[in-house]
Amino acid sequence: MRQSRALIPTMREVPADAEVKSHRLLLRAGYIRQLASGVYTYLPLAQRVLKKAMQIIREEMDAIDGQEITMPALQPAELWQATGRWDDYGPLMMKLTDRHGRMFALGPTHEEVITALVRDEVKSYKRLPLILYQIQTKYRDEYRPRFGLLRGREFLMKDAYSFDRDEEGLDRSYWAMYRAYMRIFERMGIEFRAVEADAGAIGGTHNHEFMVLADVGEDTIAYCSACDYAANVERAEVVFPPVGQASGEGGAADDSGAKMEDEPPAPLERVATPGIRTVAEQAAMLGLPTSKIIKNVVFLADGEPVVVLVRGDHQVNEVKVKNALGVRFLEMADESRIRALFGAGPGFVGPIGVQNVRIIADHAVGALRNASTGANEDDRHYIGVNPGRDFTVHQYGDFRLVQEGDVCPRCGAPLHFAQGIEVGHVFKLGTKYSRALGAVYLDESGNQREMLMGSYGIGVSRVIQAVVEQSHDEDGIIWPPALAPFDVHLIVVNMAHDTQRHIAEGLYGALLGDGYAVLFDDRQERAGVKFKDADLIGIPLQVIVGAAAERGEIEVKIRRTKEKRTVPHPEALETIRALLKELV
Ligand code: ATP
Ligand code: MG
Repeated sequence: MRQSRALIPTMREVPADAEVKSHRLLLRAGYIRQLASGVYTYLPLAQRVLKKAMQIIREEMDAIDGQEITMPALQPAELWQATGRWDDYGPLMMKLTDRHGRMFALGPTHEEVITALVRDEVKSYKRLPLILYQIQTKYRDEYRPRFGLLRGREFLMKDAYSFDRDEEGLDRSYWAMYRAYMRIFERMGIEFRAVEADAGAIGGTHNHEFMVLADVGEDTIAYCSACDYAANVERAEVVFPPVGQASGEGGAADDSGAKMEDEPPAPLERVATPGIRTVAEQAAMLGLPTSKIIKNVVFLADGEPVVVLVRGDHQVNEVKVKNALGVRFLEMADESRIRALFGAGPGFVGPIGVQNVRIIADHAVGALRNASTGANEDDRHYIGVNPGRDFTVHQYGDFRLVQEGDVCPRCGAPLHFAQGIEVGHVFKLGTKYSRALGAVYLDESGNQREMLMGSYGIGVSRVIQAVVEQSHDEDGIIWPPALAPFDVHLIVVNMAHDTQRHIAEGLYGALLGDGYAVLFDDRQERAGVKFKDADLIGIPLQVIVGAAAERGEIEVKIRRTKEKRTVPHPEALETIRALLKELV
């Protein structure tokens, strides 16, 4: 492509709301433009990168016998009502009404559509297993669209779905897909990690997210410093009691299974704590460590109140609470509801004497002696609180978020944290959708059975920006060759100069003839502008034909390392070819 004819609108200044580097770079280097919040046009350079990403994805999906289809973005409400997701998806779903008053959604995902399709078209075990996939535009009315392509409201997703006869089949499909994802992200040249993710009601480890490690990532990953355990913090298990410390040893174990602290129980006492707002203030006023405070967080679980107890130095993990209760919605209760239930404001709630609210507690709470908690009266707390003696808990469990330094559930070494961008997600759906929509097949004996499904997504538009977030320097983007919009950036310093132009045109023709994708900067621009743009755009190899061409020399530059080499012109083509073989 001749750059003089290409639409590559590089720019110096980017809008102030472009906060993250990758977003700024994609705007500056002329890859994308915003139409509305979270809605983008992919300009020619971005389109080329997307095409390469899609090609890798297609090859790996086809290699596991995935078949590509395209499903509609416009989806009737009835289908979503049948699975309950018309309501569950909530405001995230873009809804619209047609001229006849019928309700539709712009698909945020396609489980409903594909399950209905396979239900209607596949009736026999002979047609299973089946893997179908598409690369298609998705719509989600994100609460906070931001970071450019990382969280859009309209974005490109590869979504695949597997259909199997039984658990073993689903297991095979799942791991085939997992391995395909590993190959896809390896081929793209990304530094990534597969982490265990929340599997909701299905449970187990059959749910992995593929994370690009980057500081701007909105997900936090806990990973082990010694073994290969890695999990989204939403899911990461907290081991209690800590590995290597047997429960009950040296202290009485209560019904939480936790090791009690060695301290003689003190009497329960109600004390004045005027104006206390936070756990830290409460601890300071009472002269206790925050680990001796029992924090009470009130939720509505499908509308029913429940209070979750965790230690003051811990945080409630809402995903774990939701899974343990088996509910669809979990939301924090507001102040008026808390007052109606407990007779006190949020900072002064506690489990003592509570009758009509379900009380669940993290294991660590069960091990506390002489702790402090709210007295269900404004400006009052209890001290000398002992679980079991002073209040009972309906259910103990792992209800807190892991913290950096907690022990690895596999090997006991300390866990570290890192931020990640979720670029892919594989998970087992089981029979959730096949049951709701009646996707059944007849087995060898003529019995009707529900299909077992898996769902597998890749954020195609998100992943290309995640790569930029990971691979850039102060001058611009550094594309891994597998995703680069062009293989070579050929720059002629002065087009008006006959020798330069002549040599450059010769190289351009020869490289195109080899089948390489070449961006040929034949613009009438100053050399400085051309070099700046080339570094910004980030093509792996630059070939510069300048004044030295008179002496029969041209320059090659490797974008990633900034390494420059002068090569004599007659052999230049061979050198470039050799470098490209190494790079591409
Ligand atoms: P997130 O937690 O980031 O909102 P998700 O878990 O809801 O994502 P999935 O339903 O698993 O997303 O969708 C599959 C993939 O689609 C994700 O792994 C991600 O790469 C991509 N994706 C999801 N939401 C967006 C978005 N708003 N913009 C761009 N890509 C997205
Ligand atoms: Mg996900």
